[in-house]
Amino acid sequence: MSEALRTDLKPKLHGPIPAYFGADKDGCLLIGGQRVDVLVHEAGDTPLFVYDLSIAAARIAALRAAMPPELAIHFAIKANSHPDLLAAMQPLVDGFDVASGGELTKAIVAGMPANEISFAGPGKRDRELTEAIRAGATLNLESAAEGRRALKIAEQFGLTPKLAVRVNPTFDLKGSGMRMGGGAKPFGVDDSEVPALVRELITAGADWRGFHIFAGSQALDAAAIAETQAATVALAANLSDAIGAAPPLVNLGGGLGVTYFPGDMPVDIDHVGSELANVLASRPDSLASSRFAMELGRYLVADCGVYLCRIVDRKVSHGEVFLVTDGGLHHQLAASGNFGTVIRRNYPIAIANRFAAEATEVQHVVGCLCTPLDRLGDQVLLPRGEVGDLVAVFMAGAYGASASPAAFLGHPAALEMLVAGRGQARAGN
Ligand SMILES: *Cc1c(COP(=O)(O)O)cnc(C)c1O
Repeated sequence: MSEALRTDLKPKLHGPIPAYFGADKDGCLLIGGQRVDVLVHEAGDTPLFVYDLSIAAARIAALRAAMPPELAIHFAIKANSHPDLLAAMQPLVDGFDVASGGELTKAIVAGMPANEISFAGPGKRDRELTEAIRAGATLNLESAAEGRRALKIAEQFGLTPKLAVRVNPTFDLKGSGMRMGGGAKPFGVDDSEVPALVRELITAGADWRGFHIFAGSQALDAAAIAETQAATVALAANLSDAIGAAPPLVNLGGGLGVTYFPGDMPVDIDHVGSELANVLASRPDSLASSRFAMELGRYLVADCGVYLCRIVDRKVSHGEVFLVTDGGLHHQLAASGNFGTVIRRNYPIAIANRFAAEATEVQHVVGCLCTPLDRLGDQVLLPRGEVGDLVAVFMAGAYGASASPAAFLGHPAALEMLVAGRGQARAGN
């Protein structure tokens, strides 16, 4: 059977493969020093997410080195709440930020002390407020009404609630992939309403923990991030003056983006860090005693994760090659272009067991779901893929398994495995 392949098909670029990934002498991709086929064998099946903890640890260390030493680093666990990963991240960061009662439980099980857990997110139910107050976690209030519910629940239990106020700032983070501040928003309390609410909380006897100000996500422009952080500190100072009390903690939000797509350049964290150091050094007296934190999800864990799936079929349609895998958007929605992006572009992708081979053929890599949305690689130039080969999609450590519609079409959930750098691996989910 001959394949009449189109020769005029221009490859579309894929995002940059993180530089720490390489191949062994047979050209097989290594993760944490181990061959991917061995990892798949150990896990027992594909599709499989592998998280190399040493990459996340190095990432956090580099971030700490760039940031002012007094800045606390929190992990927003909605990016990846796999229990083994959380347990491994716990000693590496200064706190976990959670966004549901389920995540709160996961954070506690992972060993994070409750006073280093903060719980944001709109629509917290009474039972979630109760769990947080009883555990001693900080609630980042999303509205005045939520604050009043929290006070009432705390009173019922005779407890002092730890309450911070999430502020909806009038600015947003420029160039951010997902805007979460500025204008009418379901998140936080409009900044003009904040002083009255905080005074009410303090009068009611709450342990007021400070401000949470999150202006956006997935920004790569260091100057824009620095500008937003400066505006955030200024806003916190103005609010403190209006309240007449200093916030114990100012959570500056996050926003540091990662390089998913062709042409993306890493954030210049040295620039962000030195600007922030200046801002903190010259901060108004009203914030003199305050501590500061950043909360990051994808920046800490996206690049430590690789999604591995297997080619089940290779077919040609109208001269174009389709590598059909056992994976797809039910595990890795973001790579299919259906999670927070307007135009679909290719995530970094490779034929994992031919990682060192020359790319010779323009191919489509698709998932096994019966929908045209299920595309992992569109018109990508790769080594010729064969049935049985493993496909690797990189930058899969954040918003992969935890942010994909796993139940859609009834395929099994992906396996997840943590490798601790060179040597040991643990399977399970
Ligand atoms: C989602 C979220 C984060 C993490 O965002 P990343 O882009 O993954 O860093 C941080 N803070 C809040 C409030 C969030 O909702």
